[in-house]
Amino acid sequence: MQTASSFYKSIFGSKTYKISLDAGCSCPTRDGSLSYGGCSFCGQRGSGDFTPEKSLSIPDQVEAARLLVDSKFRKSPRKYIAYFQSFTNTYGNLRLLEEKWRQALSCPGVVGLALGTRPDCISEECLKLLSTLCDQGYFVQVELGFQSSDEETAAFFNRAYKNDVYFDAVYRLHRANAKIHVVTHVLFGLPVKAGGIESPEQMLASVKAVCQAKSDGIKIANLYVLKNTPLEELYKKGAFRSLDFEEYMQLLQEALKILPPSMVIHRLSGDPPRALLLAPAWCSKKKVLVNAIKELLKAFD
Ligand code: SF4
Repeated sequence: MQTASSFYKSIFGSKTYKISLDAGCSCPTRDGSLSYGGCSFCGQRGSGDFTPEKSLSIPDQVEAARLLVDSKFRKSPRKYIAYFQSFTNTYGNLRLLEEKWRQALSCPGVVGLALGTRPDCISEECLKLLSTLCDQGYFVQVELGFQSSDEETAAFFNRAYKNDVYFDAVYRLHRANAKIHVVTHVLFGLPVKAGGIESPEQMLASVKAVCQAKSDGIKIANLYVLKNTPLEELYKKGAFRSLDFEEYMQLLQEALKILPPSMVIHRLSGDPPRALLLAPAWCSKKKVLVNAIKELLKAFD
């Protein structure tokens, strides 16, 4: 088991930061191709709450995001991974997407690409392009929003694809090029149709599924409720509660026991925009959370 920070250092030889970008994509659960409204927890900016405005050109977004990172961290030299985070970044005109990816890759200090996407939005043509980018020496990371291996939970939050689509996507990405680094997102504390949230067994089963799929990396976060999302309404009705801090830490501890040594841990907490956060309040206390996670990881060193 290793953290993303040490994983990137082993590849790039120095501290590497992800900078969030917005390619102006949509999502099939928002534009009516599969449904409307999106995943119940997804904010208005499609999980890209910290990205620069999409009206900016990609080089200008890279510059703005890079300046933000540089103002927060002193360590140098720095390298950057262009993280196309908002909405579904392999959904749309592939030629236009390629143009944006290459614009980002040609910016100073940018050594690779990370694409947030859905497993059902990765065409064969897209796989070929990702493989070509790897062969041209670029680091390529594909992040799949999976969240839960429980089909009922997934249907309830409007994921709109089945588990086998996820398993197949991980397999196809690896088959296209073994260098593609696949990261899977999992959420703890998702609501279930009958009321309440998933059981610890259901949440840990999702982590086991990610290992079974042979994802190279994982991101785990607690579900948080944002304003102006379908989840807000459900939460305000009292249909579910959010996980408390101790409970989440306990779940993380159990999850870490499941992960194989080769799994790269990219995140173990969510990062909600404060102005939009309804619950739980504890997940905006970044320092407390980061320290608790550091302590937790020490036990697995
Ligand atoms: S698939 Fe991703 S971008 Fe689309 S609604 Fe769900 S979380 Fe948001």
